[in-house]
Amino acid sequence: MDSKYLSAGLCLLSTIALTCLTCLAQDETAAPAAPSRPHPDISRLGKFPDWSRLDAFQRTMTRTEFVYLLDHCYTNSPSKYEGLIDIHEDRAEIVRQSNYSAAGKYTLYFKSSPEDPGDADTYWRDTYQMDDLPEGSAKVLDGIRIAVDPGHIGGEWVRWDDRHFKIGSHSTEVREGELTLKVAKILERDLTTLGAEVFLTRSKNEPVTTDRADDMVEAARAHILRKKKIPSKNYLAYTAGRFFALSSEMRARAELVNNEFQPDLLICLHFNATPWGRTAYFNSANHMHLLVNGCYTNGEVKEDDVRFDMLYRLLQRMYYPELEMSEAVAQAMRTETSLPAFKGYTNGSGKRVCDDPYIYARNLLGNRLFMCPVVFLEPYCMNNRTVYYRIQAGEYEGMKEFGGRMRKNIFQEYADGITNGLVDYFEARR
Ligand SMILES: [Zn+2]
Repeated sequence: MDSKYLSAGLCLLSTIALTCLTCLAQDETAAPAAPSRPHPDISRLGKFPDWSRLDAFQRTMTRTEFVYLLDHCYTNSPSKYEGLIDIHEDRAEIVRQSNYSAAGKYTLYFKSSPEDPGDADTYWRDTYQMDDLPEGSAKVLDGIRIAVDPGHIGGEWVRWDDRHFKIGSHSTEVREGELTLKVAKILERDLTTLGAEVFLTRSKNEPVTTDRADDMVEAARAHILRKKKIPSKNYLAYTAGRFFALSSEMRARAELVNNEFQPDLLICLHFNATPWGRTAYFNSANHMHLLVNGCYTNGEVKEDDVRFDMLYRLLQRMYYPELEMSEAVAQAMRTETSLPAFKGYTNGSGKRVCDDPYIYARNLLGNRLFMCPVVFLEPYCMNNRTVYYRIQAGEYEGMKEFGGRMRKNIFQEYADGITNGLVDYFEARR
Protein backbone atom coordinates (compact mmCIF):
# COMPACT_ATOMS: atom_id res chain seq x y z
CA MET A 1 0.00 0.00 0.00
CA ASP A 2 2.67 2.47 1.01
CA SER A 3 4.60 1.53 -2.06
CA LYS A 4 7.51 3.34 -3.53
CA TYR A 5 6.67 1.07 -6.31
CA LEU A 6 6.46 1.51 -10.03
CA SER A 7 5.04 -1.24 -12.13
CA ALA A 8 6.12 -1.27 -15.74
CA GLY A 9 3.61 0.57 -17.84
CA LEU A 10 1.49 1.46 -14.88
CA CYS A 11 1.44 5.17 -14.52
CA LEU A 12 -0.86 4.83 -11.60
CA LEU A 13 -3.74 6.25 -13.54
CA SER A 14 -5.54 3.00 -14.10
CA THR A 15 -9.15 2.69 -13.18
CA ILE A 16 -9.97 0.50 -10.26
CA ALA A 17 -13.40 -0.75 -9.40
CA LEU A 18 -14.29 1.82 -6.80
CA THR A 19 -17.26 3.88 -5.80
CA CYS A 20 -17.66 7.36 -4.43
CA LEU A 21 -20.13 9.63 -2.72
CA THR A 22 -20.37 12.30 -5.37
CA CYS A 23 -22.34 10.42 -7.94
CA LEU A 24 -26.06 10.92 -8.03
CA ALA A 25 -28.25 9.94 -10.91
CA GLN A 26 -28.60 12.59 -13.62
CA ASP A 27 -30.84 10.23 -15.48
CA GLU A 28 -33.86 10.45 -13.23
CA THR A 29 -36.40 10.78 -16.03
CA ALA A 30 -35.48 7.37 -17.38
CA ALA A 31 -35.53 5.61 -14.05
CA PRO A 32 -37.75 6.86 -11.26
CA ALA A 33 -35.75 6.89 -8.09
CA ALA A 34 -36.90 4.30 -5.63
CA PRO A 35 -36.01 4.66 -1.96
CA SER A 36 -34.04 1.43 -2.11
CA ARG A 37 -31.94 2.46 -5.08
CA PRO A 38 -28.37 1.62 -4.07
CA HIS A 39 -25.38 3.82 -4.55
CA PRO A 40 -24.27 3.04 -8.11
CA ASP A 41 -21.04 1.28 -8.93
CA ILE A 42 -18.98 4.22 -10.20
CA SER A 43 -15.23 4.83 -10.68
CA ARG A 44 -13.33 7.15 -8.33
CA LEU A 45 -14.87 10.65 -8.38
CA GLY A 46 -16.99 9.65 -11.38
CA LYS A 47 -20.62 10.63 -11.96
CA PHE A 48 -23.61 8.51 -12.86
CA PRO A 49 -23.91 8.88 -16.65
CA ASP A 50 -26.61 10.66 -18.59
CA TRP A 51 -27.44 7.83 -20.98
CA SER A 52 -29.43 10.13 -23.25
CA ARG A 53 -26.08 11.43 -24.52
CA LEU A 54 -25.97 8.25 -26.60
CA ASP A 55 -29.09 9.41 -28.48
CA ALA A 56 -26.84 11.16 -31.01
CA PHE A 57 -25.49 7.75 -32.05
CA GLN A 58 -28.83 6.05 -32.76
CA ARG A 59 -28.63 4.08 -36.03
CA THR A 60 -25.13 5.38 -36.84
CA MET A 61 -23.22 2.08 -36.51
CA THR A 62 -23.96 -1.36 -37.91
CA ARG A 63 -24.22 -4.36 -35.64
CA THR A 64 -21.13 -5.87 -37.30
CA GLU A 65 -18.96 -2.85 -36.58
CA PHE A 66 -20.28 -2.43 -33.05
CA VAL A 67 -19.50 -6.04 -32.14
CA TYR A 68 -16.12 -5.87 -33.91
CA LEU A 69 -15.02 -2.82 -31.91
CA LEU A 70 -16.29 -4.30 -28.63
CA ASP A 71 -14.53 -7.64 -29.13
CA HIS A 72 -11.42 -6.58 -31.02
CA CYS A 73 -10.45 -3.48 -29.04
CA TYR A 74 -12.60 -2.57 -26.07
CA THR A 75 -12.71 -5.96 -24.34
CA ASN A 76 -10.83 -9.20 -24.79
CA SER A 77 -13.91 -11.42 -24.80
CA PRO A 78 -17.73 -11.12 -24.83
CA SER A 79 -17.73 -12.43 -21.25
CA LYS A 80 -16.45 -9.01 -20.14
CA TYR A 81 -19.76 -7.34 -21.07
CA GLU A 82 -22.12 -10.29 -20.66
CA GLY A 83 -25.31 -9.25 -18.87
CA LEU A 84 -24.33 -5.57 -19.18
CA ILE A 85 -24.59 -5.09 -22.95
CA ASP A 86 -26.99 -7.48 -24.70
CA ILE A 87 -26.55 -7.66 -28.46
CA HIS A 88 -29.72 -8.30 -30.48
CA GLU A 89 -30.16 -8.37 -34.26
CA ASP A 90 -31.20 -4.72 -34.56
CA ARG A 91 -30.09 -3.19 -31.25
CA ALA A 92 -27.94 -3.31 -28.14
CA GLU A 93 -29.63 -3.22 -24.74
CA ILE A 94 -27.33 -1.51 -22.25
CA VAL A 95 -27.82 -1.79 -18.49
CA ARG A 96 -28.11 1.68 -16.98
CA GLN A 97 -27.14 0.86 -13.39
CA SER A 98 -25.35 -2.44 -12.90
CA ASN A 99 -26.43 -2.97 -9.29
CA TYR A 100 -30.09 -1.92 -9.77
CA SER A 101 -32.03 -3.68 -12.49
CA ALA A 102 -35.11 -1.49 -11.88
CA ALA A 103 -33.19 1.37 -13.54
CA GLY A 104 -33.81 -0.44 -16.83
CA LYS A 105 -31.82 -0.53 -20.04
CA TYR A 106 -30.81 1.95 -22.68
CA THR A 107 -31.66 0.79 -26.21
CA LEU A 108 -29.19 1.63 -28.96
CA TYR A 109 -30.41 0.77 -32.47
CA PHE A 110 -27.90 -0.32 -35.09
CA LYS A 111 -27.59 1.20 -38.53
CA SER A 112 -29.41 -1.07 -40.90
CA SER A 113 -30.36 0.91 -43.97
CA PRO A 114 -28.68 3.54 -46.19
CA GLU A 115 -31.35 6.01 -45.10
CA ASP A 116 -30.09 5.87 -41.53
CA PRO A 117 -28.12 8.94 -40.38
CA GLY A 118 -24.38 9.36 -41.05
CA ASP A 119 -21.75 9.86 -38.36
CA ALA A 120 -22.68 11.82 -35.27
CA ASP A 121 -20.91 15.14 -34.70
CA THR A 122 -17.73 15.04 -32.64
CA TYR A 123 -15.59 17.94 -31.46
CA TRP A 124 -12.46 16.37 -32.98
CA ARG A 125 -11.99 16.12 -36.74
CA ASP A 126 -10.72 13.17 -38.71
CA THR A 127 -8.32 14.03 -41.54
CA TYR A 128 -11.05 13.83 -44.19
CA GLN A 129 -12.88 16.63 -42.37
CA MET A 130 -9.85 18.95 -42.43
CA ASP A 131 -9.06 21.53 -45.12
CA ASP A 132 -6.54 20.52 -47.78
CA LEU A 133 -3.10 22.00 -47.35
CA PRO A 134 -2.33 24.95 -49.62
CA GLU A 135 -0.14 23.92 -52.57
CA GLY A 136 3.55 23.73 -51.59
CA SER A 137 2.83 24.39 -47.90
CA ALA A 138 5.64 23.30 -45.61
CA LYS A 139 3.31 23.48 -42.61
CA VAL A 140 2.01 19.93 -42.61
CA LEU A 141 0.15 20.44 -39.34
CA ASP A 142 -1.51 23.67 -40.45
CA GLY A 143 -4.77 24.25 -38.55
CA ILE A 144 -4.63 21.01 -36.56
CA ARG A 145 -5.58 21.37 -32.92
CA ILE A 146 -3.23 19.31 -30.74
CA ALA A 147 -3.44 19.07 -26.95
CA VAL A 148 -0.47 17.82 -24.96
CA ASP A 149 -0.82 16.33 -21.48
CA PRO A 150 2.42 16.24 -19.49
CA GLY A 151 1.72 13.26 -17.23
CA HIS A 152 1.85 13.72 -13.41
CA ILE A 153 2.74 16.86 -11.46
CA GLY A 154 6.19 18.09 -10.49
CA GLY A 155 7.54 20.32 -7.72
CA GLU A 156 6.35 19.78 -4.17
CA TRP A 157 3.39 17.74 -5.50
CA VAL A 158 5.48 14.69 -6.40
CA ARG A 159 5.07 13.31 -2.89
CA TRP A 160 1.47 12.38 -3.69
CA ASP A 161 2.12 9.95 -6.49
CA ASP A 162 5.44 8.10 -6.08
CA ARG A 163 6.81 9.00 -9.51
CA HIS A 164 10.09 10.39 -8.20
CA PHE A 165 13.37 8.94 -6.99
CA LYS A 166 17.08 9.54 -6.68
CA ILE A 167 20.03 7.17 -6.97
CA GLY A 168 23.23 8.23 -5.17
CA SER A 169 23.78 11.41 -3.19
CA HIS A 170 25.26 13.56 -5.96
CA SER A 171 22.43 13.53 -8.46
CA THR A 172 19.24 15.53 -8.87
CA GLU A 173 15.98 13.82 -7.99
CA VAL A 174 14.21 12.44 -11.04
CA ARG A 175 10.58 13.59 -11.12
CA GLU A 176 8.44 12.22 -13.93
CA GLY A 177 6.05 15.20 -13.89
CA GLU A 178 8.94 17.60 -14.49
CA LEU A 179 10.42 15.49 -17.30
CA THR A 180 7.11 15.30 -19.16
CA LEU A 181 6.68 19.08 -18.88
CA LYS A 182 10.08 19.66 -20.50
CA VAL A 183 9.06 17.44 -23.43
CA ALA A 184 5.67 19.18 -23.65
CA LYS A 185 7.27 22.61 -23.97
CA ILE A 186 9.57 21.44 -26.78
CA LEU A 187 6.57 19.91 -28.52
CA GLU A 188 4.58 23.11 -28.11
CA ARG A 189 7.34 25.06 -29.85
CA ASP A 190 8.01 22.54 -32.63
CA LEU A 191 4.40 21.62 -33.46
CA THR A 192 3.47 25.32 -33.52
CA THR A 193 6.27 25.94 -36.01
CA LEU A 194 4.67 23.28 -38.23
CA GLY A 195 1.34 25.12 -38.13
CA ALA A 196 -0.51 23.31 -35.33
CA GLU A 197 -2.50 25.05 -32.63
CA VAL A 198 -1.10 23.56 -29.43
CA PHE A 199 -2.70 23.41 -25.97
CA LEU A 200 -0.91 22.20 -22.84
CA THR A 201 -3.05 20.83 -20.01
CA ARG A 202 -0.49 22.37 -17.66
CA SER A 203 2.52 24.63 -18.28
CA LYS A 204 3.83 24.68 -14.69
CA ASN A 205 4.71 22.07 -12.11
CA GLU A 206 1.40 22.74 -10.38
CA PRO A 207 -1.88 20.82 -10.23
CA VAL A 208 -4.74 21.69 -12.59
CA THR A 209 -7.39 20.63 -10.07
CA THR A 210 -8.34 23.10 -7.34
CA ASP A 211 -8.95 20.18 -4.96
CA ARG A 212 -6.24 19.27 -2.47
CA ALA A 213 -5.64 16.09 -0.48
CA ASP A 214 -7.39 17.60 2.57
CA ASP A 215 -10.55 18.12 0.50
CA MET A 216 -10.57 14.45 -0.45
CA VAL A 217 -10.62 12.94 3.04
CA GLU A 218 -14.36 12.24 3.20
CA ALA A 219 -14.50 10.79 -0.31
CA ALA A 220 -11.47 8.65 0.57
CA ARG A 221 -13.06 7.47 3.82
CA ALA A 222 -16.27 6.46 2.02
CA HIS A 223 -14.24 4.63 -0.57
CA ILE A 224 -12.25 2.69 2.05
CA LEU A 225 -15.39 1.75 3.96
CA ARG A 226 -17.07 0.59 0.78
CA LYS A 227 -14.09 -1.69 0.22
CA LYS A 228 -14.77 -3.03 3.72
CA LYS A 229 -11.38 -1.88 4.98
CA ILE A 230 -10.46 0.14 8.03
CA PRO A 231 -9.68 3.84 7.42
CA SER A 232 -6.61 4.05 9.64
CA LYS A 233 -4.95 7.47 9.80
CA ASN A 234 -2.14 6.54 7.42
CA TYR A 235 -4.32 4.68 4.96
CA LEU A 236 -6.81 7.55 4.90
CA ALA A 237 -4.08 10.13 4.24
CA TYR A 238 -2.57 7.96 1.52
CA THR A 239 -5.92 7.39 -0.21
CA ALA A 240 -6.90 11.06 0.00
CA GLY A 241 -3.56 11.92 -1.62
CA ARG A 242 -4.28 9.54 -4.48
CA PHE A 243 -7.77 10.96 -4.93
CA PHE A 244 -6.23 14.41 -5.26
CA ALA A 245 -3.14 13.72 -7.39
CA LEU A 246 -4.61 11.07 -9.68
CA SER A 247 -8.41 11.04 -9.80
CA SER A 248 -9.25 14.70 -9.28
CA GLU A 249 -6.24 15.88 -11.28
CA MET A 250 -7.04 13.69 -14.31
CA ARG A 251 -10.69 14.72 -14.25
CA ALA A 252 -9.74 18.41 -14.16
CA ARG A 253 -7.46 17.91 -17.17
CA ALA A 254 -10.15 16.00 -19.05
CA GLU A 255 -12.57 18.86 -18.45
CA LEU A 256 -10.07 21.31 -19.94
CA VAL A 257 -9.49 19.12 -22.98
CA ASN A 258 -13.13 18.16 -23.65
CA ASN A 259 -14.80 21.46 -22.82
CA GLU A 260 -12.22 24.13 -23.66
CA PHE A 261 -9.48 22.91 -26.00
CA GLN A 262 -11.60 20.44 -28.01
CA PRO A 263 -8.55 19.30 -29.97
CA ASP A 264 -8.31 16.93 -32.93
CA LEU A 265 -5.94 14.75 -30.92
CA LEU A 266 -4.23 14.54 -27.56
CA ILE A 267 -0.66 13.46 -26.82
CA CYS A 268 -0.18 11.98 -23.30
CA LEU A 269 3.44 12.06 -22.18
CA HIS A 270 4.90 9.65 -19.63
CA PHE A 271 8.24 8.07 -18.80
CA ASN A 272 8.27 4.45 -17.73
CA ALA A 273 10.30 2.74 -14.97
CA THR A 274 10.87 -0.77 -13.70
CA PRO A 275 9.71 -1.60 -10.17
CA TRP A 276 11.89 -0.96 -7.15
CA GLY A 277 11.53 -1.55 -3.44
CA ARG A 278 12.28 0.86 -0.62
CA THR A 279 15.33 2.33 -2.36
CA ALA A 280 15.64 2.96 -6.08
CA TYR A 281 18.39 1.16 -7.98
CA PHE A 282 19.47 0.78 -11.58
CA ASN A 283 17.88 -1.83 -13.78
CA SER A 284 19.16 -2.77 -17.22
CA ALA A 285 15.65 -2.88 -18.71
CA ASN A 286 14.76 -0.06 -21.09
CA HIS A 287 11.84 -0.18 -23.48
CA MET A 288 8.85 1.60 -24.98
CA HIS A 289 5.17 1.06 -25.62
CA LEU A 290 2.16 3.09 -26.67
CA LEU A 291 -1.44 2.61 -25.58
CA VAL A 292 -4.76 2.96 -27.31
CA ASN A 293 -7.84 2.90 -25.11
CA GLY A 294 -9.35 -0.57 -24.82
CA CYS A 295 -9.20 -3.94 -23.05
CA TYR A 296 -11.75 -3.08 -20.37
CA THR A 297 -12.06 -5.69 -17.65
CA ASN A 298 -15.40 -7.02 -16.47
CA GLY A 299 -15.06 -4.97 -13.27
CA GLU A 300 -14.56 -1.82 -15.33
CA VAL A 301 -17.48 -2.49 -17.71
CA LYS A 302 -19.61 -3.02 -14.61
CA GLU A 303 -18.94 0.54 -13.43
CA ASP A 304 -21.75 2.64 -14.90
CA ASP A 305 -19.65 5.67 -15.82
CA VAL A 306 -16.85 3.55 -17.26
CA ARG A 307 -19.29 1.51 -19.39
CA PHE A 308 -20.72 4.79 -20.67
CA ASP A 309 -17.28 6.26 -21.47
CA MET A 310 -16.29 3.09 -23.31
CA LEU A 311 -19.41 3.22 -25.49
CA TYR A 312 -19.13 6.97 -26.03
CA ARG A 313 -15.60 6.46 -27.36
CA LEU A 314 -16.55 3.36 -29.36
CA LEU A 315 -19.48 5.03 -31.09
CA GLN A 316 -17.32 7.97 -32.15
CA ARG A 317 -15.06 5.47 -33.99
CA MET A 318 -12.05 6.96 -32.22
CA TYR A 319 -10.28 3.64 -32.32
CA TYR A 320 -9.23 3.89 -35.97
CA PRO A 321 -7.39 7.26 -35.91
CA GLU A 322 -6.08 6.52 -32.42
CA LEU A 323 -4.46 3.31 -33.65
CA GLU A 324 -3.14 4.74 -36.93
CA MET A 325 -1.64 7.79 -35.22
CA SER A 326 -0.09 5.57 -32.54
CA GLU A 327 1.42 3.35 -35.23
CA ALA A 328 2.94 6.34 -37.03
CA VAL A 329 4.33 7.77 -33.79
CA ALA A 330 5.61 4.36 -32.60
CA GLN A 331 7.54 3.91 -35.83
CA ALA A 332 9.12 7.37 -35.68
CA MET A 333 9.89 6.96 -31.96
CA ARG A 334 11.60 3.65 -32.65
CA THR A 335 13.80 5.29 -35.29
CA GLU A 336 14.59 8.21 -32.99
CA THR A 337 15.19 6.31 -29.73
CA SER A 338 16.21 2.75 -30.80
CA LEU A 339 14.22 1.47 -27.82
CA PRO A 340 12.98 -2.13 -27.99
CA ALA A 341 9.31 -2.97 -27.47
CA PHE A 342 7.99 -3.59 -23.96
CA LYS A 343 6.82 -7.16 -23.51
CA GLY A 344 4.15 -7.17 -20.90
CA TYR A 345 0.52 -7.12 -19.88
CA THR A 346 0.45 -10.84 -19.34
CA ASN A 347 -2.22 -10.37 -16.62
CA GLY A 348 -4.98 -9.43 -19.06
CA SER A 349 -4.94 -5.69 -18.32
CA GLY A 350 -3.67 -5.01 -21.85
CA LYS A 351 -4.06 -6.67 -25.23
CA ARG A 352 -2.63 -6.49 -28.72
CA VAL A 353 -4.86 -5.01 -31.40
CA CYS A 354 -2.39 -4.90 -34.31
CA ASP A 355 0.92 -6.38 -35.47
CA ASP A 356 2.99 -3.48 -34.14
CA PRO A 357 4.83 -4.90 -31.09
CA TYR A 358 4.96 -1.44 -29.47
CA ILE A 359 1.20 -0.98 -29.24
CA TYR A 360 -1.26 -2.31 -26.67
CA ALA A 361 -4.87 -1.54 -25.86
CA ARG A 362 -5.43 -0.69 -22.24
CA ASN A 363 -7.99 1.21 -20.20
CA LEU A 364 -6.55 3.99 -18.06
CA LEU A 365 -8.29 6.96 -16.55
CA GLY A 366 -5.60 8.91 -18.43
CA ASN A 367 -6.75 7.78 -21.87
CA ARG A 368 -10.45 7.03 -21.29
CA LEU A 369 -11.70 10.43 -20.12
CA PHE A 370 -10.54 12.32 -23.19
CA MET A 371 -13.15 12.27 -25.95
CA CYS A 372 -10.75 12.62 -28.85
CA PRO A 373 -8.08 10.28 -30.27
CA VAL A 374 -5.26 9.88 -27.74
CA VAL A 375 -1.63 8.92 -28.39
CA PHE A 376 -0.38 7.68 -25.02
CA LEU A 377 3.37 7.14 -24.73
CA GLU A 378 5.44 5.14 -22.24
CA PRO A 379 9.05 5.32 -23.53
CA TYR A 380 12.32 5.09 -21.52
CA CYS A 381 12.78 3.45 -18.12
CA MET A 382 13.86 6.27 -15.84
CA ASN A 383 15.87 3.94 -13.61
CA ASN A 384 17.88 2.49 -16.47
CA ARG A 385 21.46 3.70 -15.96
CA THR A 386 21.88 5.37 -19.36
CA VAL A 387 18.44 7.00 -19.22
CA TYR A 388 19.16 8.23 -15.70
CA TYR A 389 22.42 9.90 -16.78
CA ARG A 390 20.77 11.35 -19.86
CA ILE A 391 18.11 12.88 -17.60
CA GLN A 392 20.84 14.24 -15.31
CA ALA A 393 22.51 15.86 -18.36
CA GLY A 394 19.45 18.06 -18.92
CA GLU A 395 18.61 19.97 -22.09
CA TYR A 396 22.05 20.47 -23.65
CA GLU A 397 22.63 21.73 -27.21
CA GLY A 398 24.01 19.41 -29.89
CA MET A 399 25.09 15.85 -29.11
CA LYS A 400 26.75 14.08 -26.17
CA GLU A 401 28.09 10.58 -25.79
CA PHE A 402 26.25 8.01 -23.68
CA GLY A 403 27.29 4.36 -23.68
CA GLY A 404 29.44 4.86 -26.79
CA ARG A 405 26.70 6.55 -28.79
CA MET A 406 26.20 10.22 -29.64
CA ARG A 407 22.76 11.33 -28.48
CA LYS A 408 20.55 14.41 -28.57
CA ASN A 409 19.26 15.46 -25.19
CA ILE A 410 16.59 12.98 -24.15
CA PHE A 411 13.77 15.56 -24.08
CA GLN A 412 14.41 16.73 -27.64
CA GLU A 413 14.76 13.12 -28.81
CA TYR A 414 11.38 12.23 -27.26
CA ALA A 415 9.71 15.29 -28.80
CA ASP A 416 11.30 14.68 -32.22
CA GLY A 417 9.96 11.13 -32.32
CA ILE A 418 6.42 12.43 -31.76
CA THR A 419 6.75 15.34 -34.19
CA ASN A 420 8.14 13.11 -36.94
CA GLY A 421 5.39 10.55 -36.39
CA LEU A 422 2.64 13.19 -36.61
CA VAL A 423 4.20 14.69 -39.74
CA ASP A 424 4.28 11.22 -41.35
CA TYR A 425 0.68 10.57 -40.37
CA PHE A 426 -0.75 13.86 -41.61
CA GLU A 427 1.48 14.14 -44.68
CA ALA A 428 0.10 10.84 -45.94
CA ARG A 429 -3.49 11.99 -45.43
CA ARG A 430 -3.73 15.70 -46.31
ZN1 LIG B 1 3.58 8.21 -15.92
